[in-house]
Amino acid sequence: MFLSGCPLRCQWCANPEGMRKKHNLMYTKGRCKAIQNHCSRCMTACPQGAITMNQKSGLPQIQRVKCMDCTEFACTRVCNYEALRISGKEYTVEELMEVIRRDRVFWQGNGGVTFGGGDPLVQWEFLVKVLEECKKHQIHTAIETEGYAEEAVFLHVLSYIDFAFVDLKHMDPQKHEEKTGVSNERILKNLRALKTSGWKGRIILRTPIIPGFNDSAENARATIAFMKEVGFFEINLLPFHRMGTSKWEQLGLEYVYRDQPNLTKEDLYSLQQLYLDAGIACYVDTDVIYSVRPLKTP
Ligand code: SF4
Ligand code: SF4
Repeated sequence: MFLSGCPLRCQWCANPEGMRKKHNLMYTKGRCKAIQNHCSRCMTACPQGAITMNQKSGLPQIQRVKCMDCTEFACTRVCNYEALRISGKEYTVEELMEVIRRDRVFWQGNGGVTFGGGDPLVQWEFLVKVLEECKKHQIHTAIETEGYAEEAVFLHVLSYIDFAFVDLKHMDPQKHEEKTGVSNERILKNLRALKTSGWKGRIILRTPIIPGFNDSAENARATIAFMKEVGFFEINLLPFHRMGTSKWEQLGLEYVYRDQPNLTKEDLYSLQQLYLDAGIACYVDTDVIYSVRPLKTP
């Protein structure tokens, strides 16, 4: 389950449509029939005058600032080709629980629900209501979070969680802020607080490895020192990828990593070895995380 809204602005984000808590208008150029079918229905339908037809390209041009508070999304309803669509859907707690209960038959007693985002802590009040229902029905709960909420909120939500992935993107507060828009201080503080809170769940720290940002041995050593100090012993390294590129384009946003080559699992093995040598279970990409198979080492 992906919940919209995120307090960070990571420049490599693979789900940029989840940054805003509200719906986003997404435009897919490859589906648009403005040229082939002389279509300009979206321009006519928009009550805000946010769409004009670009004289040069012949395609719709969207003034995003005018769309920010749109609730009608009339343009999406008149587009017959799904070139325009809105991201996200609103659910009540009951509606979401219905989806979870429906999916439960496929888990075959060996699964649960994972809340990701965006950052699910942004909608924490709603999330807590859903988590209360999950606990009532003995459903295993996992979260993927930036850990950036107020401490009380972080601990309260985590008290319902069995398994947490908490992102730790850089140990240097300034560098963290340069690429994500916020310092890491609150995240580190929350992680320390979680450890002393008596929480009984399983935690895996998670670091997307971004070339030129946090792929150094120095940052890995600083992360290891923090983990040992606090008492965390599992980390998941994710190789950088550009799978979110088309979404940045659909949102009309600039993707600064569009020309950065993807990393492979093999690219991360030397960093993984630093963690393993320090006695920390380090998983690369999707290796081993949910299973109990032995740790795969390089
Ligand atoms: S989302 Fe709303 S304001 Fe933006 S183009 Fe569509 S109808 Fe107009
Ligand atoms: S209504 Fe759809 S197909 Fe037509 S111009 Fe707008 S985006 Fe393109």
